[in-house]
Amino acid sequence: MLDTNPRRPHLSIVIPMYNEAASVEELYRRLSTVLTLLQARYEIVFVDDGSTDETALLVRAIGAEDPFVRLVKLARNYGQTAALAAGFDQARGEVIVSMDGDLQHAPEDLPRLIDKLNEGYDIASGWRERRVDAFWTRRLPSRVANWLMARLSGVALHDFGTTFKAYRAPAIKRIALYGDLHRFIPALASWQGARIAEVPITNVERPGGRSHYGLSRTWRVAADLITVRFLLRYLTRPLHFFGPLGFGALAGGLAGGGYLTVRKLVFGEQIFLAHGPLLILSVLLIQTGILLIGLGLLAEILTRIYLDGRHRRIYRIEELVPAPIARVRRSKRA
Ligand code: UDP
Ligand code: MG
Repeated sequence: MLDTNPRRPHLSIVIPMYNEAASVEELYRRLSTVLTLLQARYEIVFVDDGSTDETALLVRAIGAEDPFVRLVKLARNYGQTAALAAGFDQARGEVIVSMDGDLQHAPEDLPRLIDKLNEGYDIASGWRERRVDAFWTRRLPSRVANWLMARLSGVALHDFGTTFKAYRAPAIKRIALYGDLHRFIPALASWQGARIAEVPITNVERPGGRSHYGLSRTWRVAADLITVRFLLRYLTRPLHFFGPLGFGALAGGLAGGGYLTVRKLVFGEQIFLAHGPLLILSVLLIQTGILLIGLGLLAEILTRIYLDGRHRRIYRIEELVPAPIARVRRSKRA
């Protein structure tokens, strides 16, 4: 599409920063060099995620000299996912690149990500082919998580964990990010039909400051895995998940209860004394069954609110032939 607005950049670099004062200047310098060589109109969007050091100050100083640098300053520390989301929302480019602000992602790798996009992909995802991180706390958990993620999402990537990625703007803008879900962007995007490719990137130690995550991240990633799996499969039909469990429990409970009723009425047994455990089990199953079915119905209602309220659809139309009139008019004006 022809872009007739000369001020609109073609390329947006989104960089979440939380206390990265140590690397701001070098990152900016190296990035500018690479971007100038690319000869594309660009903007660098630094998202300051509530840093307590001089990160914002330094970015503001750079921005005063360089009109291609923008600062998006968040009111407090919201976490990496929110910082990324803020950056993506602000980005104006047709191509959006996200990277870390701690120099663990080499700006020099950027052209290769862009090249990949130009081959016709919607997302070019960085792959830390040779990792330098500690084995037990980083590489092993990440290996397991990546394997699981590839299995569960059906997206064959080696490395879900890196944020160094290039996107066609629509592919990232239509994804609702929350929680710690930025790690699952490829899975969520591929669910929406995005074409994804992997590009090897260099992996270096963090030169300054320290990582904001430790081993505890493993559990959060595991929890998110379950969420994503659930979202991918059951978002539009939660009752299919809760229903079988609920009806199974209810049926078991009713069978037990029926059996006990017969023993009582026909044989006049003392149910409480003779069949205590079965009685408790039956009551428990009936109650659990009803609750699970109720939960499923509740989830169905939530799903409908979710889909209507935010204009989400369970499908995405890529093209309409012939194009709707309103869209033709709009593109003429552009
Ligand atoms: N980050 C952020 N907000 C946070 C934590 C991290 O914006 O609450 C940024 C951080 O400044 C860096 C990127 O997210 O640019 C990745 O963080 P980090 O280097 O700590 O993670 P790791 O490389 O260890 O996975
Ligand atoms: Mg890092």
